[in-house]
Amino acid sequence: MSTPIRQQYLDLRKRYPGTILFFRLGDFYETFDDDAKLVARELQITLTSKPMGKDLRVPLAGVPYHSIDQHVAKLVARGYRVAICEQLADPSEVKGLVPRDVVRIVTAGTVTSEASLEAGRANYLGALVHRGRDAALALADVTTGEVRLVPGDAAAVELGRSPVAELLVEDLADAAGAAMPVVLRPLLSDMAVDAALAEQFGEHAREALVPGPAAAAALAHLLAYLRETFPAALGSLQRIRAESGADELLVDERTLRNLDVFPGPGRTSSLLAVIDRCRTAMGTRLLRHWLAHPLRHPARLAERHDAVGWAAANPIERERVRSVLRAIPDLARLAGRVGARTATPRDLAALRDGLRAVLDLGALLSSCGLPPLLEGALRSLSGAAEPLATLDAALAEDPPAAFDDGGVIRPGFSPEIDSLHALTRDARSFLLGLERLERERTGIKSLKVGHNKVFGYYIEVSAANAALVPPHYQRRQTLVGAERYVTEELKEHEARLVGARERLVELERQAFASLLETLAAGLAAMQSVADAVALIDVVLALGEVAAEQGYTRPVFTEGDLVIRGGRHPVVEAAVGPGRFVPNDCVLDSETQILVVTGPNMSGKSTFLRQVALIALMAQAGSFVPAAEARLPLFDRIFSRIGAHDDLAAGQSTFMVEMVETAQILHRATPQSLVILDEVGRGTSTYDGMAIARAVIEFLHNRKEGAARTLFATHYHELTALEGILPRVRNAHVAVREEGAEIVFEHRVVPGPADRSYGIHVARLAGLPRAVVARAEHLLAELEAERAAHGRSSAAHARNGSAPEPAFQPPLFGGPSPVEAALAALDVDGMTPIEAIQKLYELRAMVLQQRVPR
Ligand code: ADP
Ligand code: MG
Repeated sequence: MSTPIRQQYLDLRKRYPGTILFFRLGDFYETFDDDAKLVARELQITLTSKPMGKDLRVPLAGVPYHSIDQHVAKLVARGYRVAICEQLADPSEVKGLVPRDVVRIVTAGTVTSEASLEAGRANYLGALVHRGRDAALALADVTTGEVRLVPGDAAAVELGRSPVAELLVEDLADAAGAAMPVVLRPLLSDMAVDAALAEQFGEHAREALVPGPAAAAALAHLLAYLRETFPAALGSLQRIRAESGADELLVDERTLRNLDVFPGPGRTSSLLAVIDRCRTAMGTRLLRHWLAHPLRHPARLAERHDAVGWAAANPIERERVRSVLRAIPDLARLAGRVGARTATPRDLAALRDGLRAVLDLGALLSSCGLPPLLEGALRSLSGAAEPLATLDAALAEDPPAAFDDGGVIRPGFSPEIDSLHALTRDARSFLLGLERLERERTGIKSLKVGHNKVFGYYIEVSAANAALVPPHYQRRQTLVGAERYVTEELKEHEARLVGARERLVELERQAFASLLETLAAGLAAMQSVADAVALIDVVLALGEVAAEQGYTRPVFTEGDLVIRGGRHPVVEAAVGPGRFVPNDCVLDSETQILVVTGPNMSGKSTFLRQVALIALMAQAGSFVPAAEARLPLFDRIFSRIGAHDDLAAGQSTFMVEMVETAQILHRATPQSLVILDEVGRGTSTYDGMAIARAVIEFLHNRKEGAARTLFATHYHELTALEGILPRVRNAHVAVREEGAEIVFEHRVVPGPADRSYGIHVARLAGLPRAVVARAEHLLAELEAERAAHGRSSAAHARNGSAPEPAFQPPLFGGPSPVEAALAALDVDGMTPIEAIQKLYELRAMVLQQRVPR
């Protein structure tokens, strides 16, 4: 026979499979049975057992109610789903079994506690859905109520580059390679989709707000999932932002990673870390969004650059405004809690202080003479006035954390609350005055009036004086050395006090709930205020970096890319002020593909990435680290880093390298920027060289025109392409020899590199002298041999002599079958998989040719 409470637990346990169930029992959240074993192990807490019926002891592990957030955060971060079961009534007021139910299932995509969240990063629940050929990703951040819909091709890209903490899919194939927890959901019918959207957003939501059936279904999945896990969150989901991606520069996750745009594992610094001078968490989140979603819209970019320019040029105003920003809390998340009706009195106090600061901010800015983007934000700030007035009228100046003792509601707001306050005050002061009164009445000097939770108010008299106690004192409790009593008078006043206080707390709770309702009705305005603050913060932060780091405003052109004195913002920050060597880059009608050579560690990768970063920053709305930057508006930035260099990705296989290279070849347009760093490095030299060359030829010879491409390589042989393909140019990173040593100048100059410095680098790295000497000897021998055979294209290129008329890897005699096969490929018509197969064939051919003829 198990106890009723055990039965209650088992019933709930059955209803929430796939979760860890935390069961509220008084001041603890308890877990039982297998949950308890798991929780004890994961959280390093003690596993005990509890009797739950005749001859029944069950494993038990629990945590105190006030520390539940941290424990849940740990479990959720490890991929568990946690069901929170609450007591639905005050146990002291219920006879028998306290009613309990699960109020919420906490999952990675629906967490709201600060223990689980990063302030400067959104936390999205995502749903990726297909309908026919249409795909869409819907994202909701339940902490702020933000909803984003990304339809079409951009959906898959968005999944990689946005902070999606949990993904819902109808088909597990959609989640292949997803890094976050994935939840398989049942297929939703059109009717179910319509019903879900209508219920949340009103009858005409679907046509008005949602682009296409896939987006509608994805959004409906989010709503259905939230209804099951965290229904309160639905209250904060109001705005839907549909993002077509049409006016955006598309950068995929890999490129963001290759360019170190965001912090991440295995990365010491990032663009975000260098330029994020935001003073609010909202600002940091918006800056992240700008960097992941650069624009292609010239007018919108001009607005951003005007605003950043204003901030850069007005340091005094900038500093004033930034000092006010510092005082603004995370209004977006506070507003989210208002929408979910989970805000506490302290949350509302923070919201009120924040709204006050927003009005200060508005006052300050309105005297400034602002560019249009900031002017628009300024107008939205006035939306703070109404909720502020509501809060000022109702909320106490310094409300307590909990309702238990009253004092949440401001005096003057409700006459009834005020009078109950007066009553409790009177009753309390009577009880406090009673001590003096009773001492006089009884003559017992050490008599005390005290209070505890179990017995309420009492009169305490030391044992020595117990004989002096008058007969109407009723004994309640005997302690060591003291007795405690009550009197009718005491009980009467206490009852009045308790009654008044209970009523007071009840009324304050009601007033607070209706305050939340009033605020929630104006949620949209509050969210706009938060958006405006974020915008102002980002613009000023970018203005500050621009001014401090000497960034300039980029100019967008229809034609050439011209960067003068460009720098890599992250490397520059790492090497220290004045230590970075600026470089120019020109990509024009004669230079569509720039082949960059130079020894290891000379700065090839840095140069490539700095060009891409400057383009990305410019289109994000930032100023750029260059003396001058004239840039086309790119549609995509592609990047591929040779397998050996791509250590952070942890999947350095040649296969991956080639799949991605194939994708770039398929997708790059003449408006794209392509960064290829040591592509081909992941295989043997001749494979690699052949592939690298074929890739360059393909990019160069496309009918529609070439994407602007920077190609870094240590294959000096590739420099010969400049003489063959009209729009390919060479550049190299200069190094200087000083005696037996070489000095990296980090200067990018036209023309091919003229020597391989591998052996010098080996010396610098501390290889034993004898080894270095032997290597030098062998190299000399090899070069002499090649010269003697008259097949010395590589050596020629190294010596800086005229480029070879035709490119021939030195071991191939005459036109190779591999080259013929490559030339015959219909690359445009291939899928990535076909391309890979072809590559394997080509590679097999190359390996066969290795056999000396
Ligand atoms: P490569 O790709 O040629 O091997 P990297 O681009 O990785 O070389 O650069 C190696 C290091 O050289 C960088 O980490 C940086 O410290 C330094 N470096 C590169 N470019 C510059 C530059 N323009 N100015 C100053 N230091 C640079
Ligand atoms: Mg490199």
